[in-house]
Amino acid sequence: MSATILDGNKISAEIKTEVAAEVAELKATGLTPGLAVVLIGHNPASEIYVRNKVKACELTGIYSEQHTPPETVSTKDLLQLVESLNRRDDIDGILVQLPLPAQVDSKKVLLAVSPEKDVDGFHPMNVGYLSTVRPGLVPCTPAGCMEILRRSRIKIEGADAVVVGRSDIVGKPVAMLLTNANATVTICHSKTHNLKEVCSRADILVAAIGRAGMITPEYVKPGSTVIDVGINKITDRAEFEKYFAGDAKREAAFAKNGSTLVGDVHPKVVEVAGAFTPVPGGVGPLTIAMLMANTVKAAKLRRGNTVPTKVG
Ligand code: NDP
Repeated sequence: MSATILDGNKISAEIKTEVAAEVAELKATGLTPGLAVVLIGHNPASEIYVRNKVKACELTGIYSEQHTPPETVSTKDLLQLVESLNRRDDIDGILVQLPLPAQVDSKKVLLAVSPEKDVDGFHPMNVGYLSTVRPGLVPCTPAGCMEILRRSRIKIEGADAVVVGRSDIVGKPVAMLLTNANATVTICHSKTHNLKEVCSRADILVAAIGRAGMITPEYVKPGSTVIDVGINKITDRAEFEKYFAGDAKREAAFAKNGSTLVGDVHPKVVEVAGAFTPVPGGVGPLTIAMLMANTVKAAKLRRGNTVPTKVG
């Protein structure tokens, strides 16, 4: 039996359509949600991410603007920029694209973003709101994992969930969201004993590790749901063979591009899991969709509207 593929592209498109409808409703009342993206220097990956974010804003009707300080920017100048964005009424969301250059105090800059405009959901105030189940802004990738589960009608309440990874941006918030949704959650990390055994008890297994193909079928309970957050680029032929030998479609893409993406979950898990998110095309597309949803949520929350938005 082969697992159901949880199609992140389809779910992301659904969410963007819903967000666009919400933006249209807001615009009819004279309010256009606005997102400011701060991109420093010329990191090619960051430039692609930002381009995609701006495109998603255009698609959903959200106003967006980019700020591109030079690579040599100081912490002080960046703090000034963030403060000026904090003060502007037409900007609802501020996103400082990471990583920041070495001379910049990243923590200080992220802390300076007003919690009300913190569409990445990284500010300690929003972390606190999440852990105390208050309305706030939730990190985009973890929120996207939850949307995939909910919209695919995977039962969360009462499920045994295991999250591998405890980073502030993925592992911890996703574990908190699952807890808030009444799953029984175990968080694992590099010091966890008997990881395979712990994972193999999970009804819902979330992998946010950053290690290509680490979660092999032996880690997975038959019929369970596996959410693969990992994005790992492979360029080595031997490594490619390890994951994708015999996959004609991947073979063609690898030959053309000289690389392909693999998650933290081994593709063979498809033979054991009940449902899983592919890489690419699983969790990845949700991150930007949830950024759009967060910008609308921020616009509403900031104006005292604590009624939950339709998404996020
Ligand atoms: P981090 O490196 O910050 O965290 C990795 C976590 O995995 C750590 O908690 C670490 O444990 C744990 N870990 C590492 N090795 C092992 C191991 N052998 N066994 C058990 N646990 C281990 O990564 P992120 O959380 O930022 O990202 C995780 C993955 O998700 C990456 O592949 C990243 O590219 C991807 N990602 C994808 C996004 C998307 O849009 N789809 C967005 C963000 C990230 P410890 O704490 O003990 O060190």
